[in-house]
Amino acid sequence: MNTIIARFAPSPTGLLHLGGVRTALINYIIVNQKKKEFPNSKFLLRIEDTDKKRSKNEYVDNIINGLKWMGINWQDEICFQSERLDRHKEIAFELLKNKHAFKCICSSEELEKRRKENLKNNLNIKRICNVCENNEQIQKKKDNFCIRIKIPDEGTIKINDKIQNEVEVKNSEIDNFIILRNDGSPTYMLSVVVDDYDMKVNMIVRGDDHFNNTFRQIHIYNKLNWDIPEYAHLPLIHGSDGSKLSKRHGATDIIELKKIGYMPKAIINNLILLGWSPKKENELIEINEIINSFNINNLSKSSSIFDYKKLDFFNNYYLQDKDGFDYFIKFIKNDLIKKNYFIDDENKVKKIFLAY
Ligand code: GLU
Repeated sequence: MNTIIARFAPSPTGLLHLGGVRTALINYIIVNQKKKEFPNSKFLLRIEDTDKKRSKNEYVDNIINGLKWMGINWQDEICFQSERLDRHKEIAFELLKNKHAFKCICSSEELEKRRKENLKNNLNIKRICNVCENNEQIQKKKDNFCIRIKIPDEGTIKINDKIQNEVEVKNSEIDNFIILRNDGSPTYMLSVVVDDYDMKVNMIVRGDDHFNNTFRQIHIYNKLNWDIPEYAHLPLIHGSDGSKLSKRHGATDIIELKKIGYMPKAIINNLILLGWSPKKENELIEINEIINSFNINNLSKSSSIFDYKKLDFFNNYYLQDKDGFDYFIKFIKNDLIKKNYFIDDENKVKKIFLAY
């Protein structure tokens, strides 16, 4: 692949956490690797703020500030997904017009009843609506319907993921999922494909919690005759006890880590070693060297454990390194309480730094 257009597409429904930063960081690294040869490569930021109830402006700010603080810089204007709903809708109706999708009027109660019956009879039926597609009356309806994608019964979808390798899934295992809801709002499954296509994204690096969605999304690409991007699905990060990394293990919100006194360099060093090794004598590695030597194809597909002790080790190392003292002084001066120690006795603060 020549020019790479990659993106980070967080939903502002929570604070930017270490897992998100790692996804953004790896996108940033592969784009900056490519830029050396293909300067038009880009790393884009899209805020997926379509869930009106759960999305909050404070989370948007937190994501933007967190990425900036980490030095993970993107190109172009930020894309806000909520501003593109008409375009998503337009594509849903295009799919409908071209008979790649159908109108469905099943109520959630009906669908739930069918789901339960199938479960009781041990039937693994993915196509939960099997009546609307062939009902002419329903297909002629002007309102009060949702739009579902048509998935063929036969055939398979194959992905050659840079991390998960080759995986094939039968179409019969994929549901005829909703692309446009009853209220006219598009679903994530549709919006993400339309935005990635319009933004010319050709390389998608995201968490492997989206791996199953990829098989569904490829159906949308195929029906629209759009080029399918390359994929890399990153394994999730776990805490020391093996469960998904969460607050229980330590601070996970990036701005919280900033407040505690961690340096971006230390966080980057720790994050990049999850599932990847620079194969050198020690594990100390900074962003420029990472850009030179990182290879996404060598990233392990099993999940890795985030080690806070190691983070402390790196932070301690970088604080003692060339810019460490300046960082520390800036950190103290920006802290409402700690800055008073500095004002009182600058030398004492310097001595404390050297001692610790
Ligand atoms: N907005 C999605 C999320 O935060 C990510 C979408 C994607 O990367 O495709 O989980």
